[in-house]
Amino acid sequence: MHSKLTALFQTIYGRPPEVVTRAPGRIEFIGNHTDYNGGSVLGAAINRGVWVGAARRDDGVRRFFSEFAGKITTLPAGELVRQSGPASWVNYPLGVLAALPAFGLPGPEGFDFLALSDLPAGAGLSSSAAIELASALAFQALLGSNPDRETVVKVGKHAENHFVGVPCGILDQGVSGFGRRDHLVYIDCRGPRFETVPLPPTAHFWIFNTHTKHALVDGLYASRHRECMEAARALGVGLLVEAKGAQLEHARPGLSPEGYKRARHVIDEIERVESARQALRRGDLSTTGRLLTASHQSSQSLFENSTAELDYLVEMLAGGLNVYGARLTGGGFGGAVMALTSPAFGAAQAAAVASGYAERFGTRPDVLHTQTGPGAEVVWKAN
Ligand code: ADP
Ligand code: MG
Repeated sequence: MHSKLTALFQTIYGRPPEVVTRAPGRIEFIGNHTDYNGGSVLGAAINRGVWVGAARRDDGVRRFFSEFAGKITTLPAGELVRQSGPASWVNYPLGVLAALPAFGLPGPEGFDFLALSDLPAGAGLSSSAAIELASALAFQALLGSNPDRETVVKVGKHAENHFVGVPCGILDQGVSGFGRRDHLVYIDCRGPRFETVPLPPTAHFWIFNTHTKHALVDGLYASRHRECMEAARALGVGLLVEAKGAQLEHARPGLSPEGYKRARHVIDEIERVESARQALRRGDLSTTGRLLTASHQSSQSLFENSTAELDYLVEMLAGGLNVYGARLTGGGFGGAVMALTSPAFGAAQAAAVASGYAERFGTRPDVLHTQTGPGAEVVWKAN
């Protein structure tokens, strides 16, 4: 990808980049709807991502190119205006530029910018966080600035929340920023506090993206959020992370049936994240896999954010040969299922699952095989 990017940069801009950066996509490994309840989550940075090349210009003009639009977007010196239509992808690097001052970081005036990717966009793998972090690192590297990872993560999240306007949690940018090959990223969302947890190199991921999305998904997220906050209030805690299972059972008569189920899911899920973290410290993928499948079953019956499509995939995968466990990954109500497998799980087995799904639902899910990879980094810098 590095040489491909350099060659494309040369073709588009007639000179080589001064810096090359990359940032990975991520998988939500376990920790479903735990973030806004103050809990923890485990994510995997994958071995695909977004690459950015950049070089300074001294006229203040900013030029952006990606295969996404297939043409250069030129912004006059000093202009930081939200873009729409085919150029709307520019809002990601632009949002990063707009965020930098809030973190006391300098931003380059003029530059040529190019993004190249081997990560599917809009597939739940957070290409948005990847382009944000690769952009932030590129802008800093152009100026010889070297901010710490946590700051880069926060700049990316700020860009997505405030400039792009997507209210994502810390998982996407946190995992892209702190990812490490043969590791997962553990995030205590209250800090936030980041830590890496070893993952055996034999662990493989298979993602089945159904491309389904519940028509009312935004409203459903909002109502789940509200139910969790109401349950916390009924339990006398600020956030569900502070409640224990026994406390919930005690308070059950005073809760609505939905409130009880949502809280049960969140409290159990936070415990599952901790159990998975312990199991991984021992390199125990079998126990970890069972926790993944239990997480899905809890989504299905308690949080009720699964769908027939996702349930079908998990049923076909979990308990199957070479599979440790499977669950929906991301917010739910459609989207993707992730399976944690041994190296023996192969393309033929994945294709059989996809064919069964196609027979049942009429469309074929996209299948992606991946492993963990390094977090966001400056790949190359001219001296
Ligand atoms: P996800 O983060 O799950 O991939 P999003 O809708 O949050 O989905 O982000 C996808 C958007 O990010 C794309 O529509 C595009 O605007 C931007 N993006 C991702 N990758 C690239 C890329 N390589 N070049 C330009 N824009 C990109
Ligand atoms: Mg995104």
